[in-house]
Amino acid sequence: MDLNDYEKLLDRAYKKIPENAKKSSRFEIPKVVLRIESKNTFIVNFAKIINTLNRDARHFLGIFLKKAGTMGEIRGQQLFLKSIYKEQVLNRLIEDYTKNYVLCNVCNKPDTEIQREGKKLFLKCGACGARLEIKEK
Ligand SMILES: [Zn+2]
Repeated sequence: MDLNDYEKLLDRAYKKIPENAKKSSRFEIPKVVLRIESKNTFIVNFAKIINTLNRDARHFLGIFLKKAGTMGEIRGQQLFLKSIYKEQVLNRLIEDYTKNYVLCNVCNKPDTEIQREGKKLFLKCGACGARLEIKEK
């Protein structure tokens, strides 16, 4: 069997995978659900989001609040933010965090953990084994 045939075979095997199986393997962060209350914003589904990211909430907040340029705190399942925010803005900040601190730069999978070494942070991937220094953006 030459390489060409092998590739065709792979191609065929992939096409046999049902459409929803392909979808469920994709990493999707829940979009923020907001409640605005007297000039403050609550991310109602924050617990769900931070569980999906599988990161320490304090680490997330340290970066997220600085980027959002506001103060905030966790209140039960929700995240309280001082000021009014639009959904798109907060979703984008969460996506940025995900790219920098959750998704592996090599294989793009979320099965990673943050490792600290002195002042440096590394993202260690459990899926492909890559270990890359995190550059703060
Ligand atoms: Zn990886």
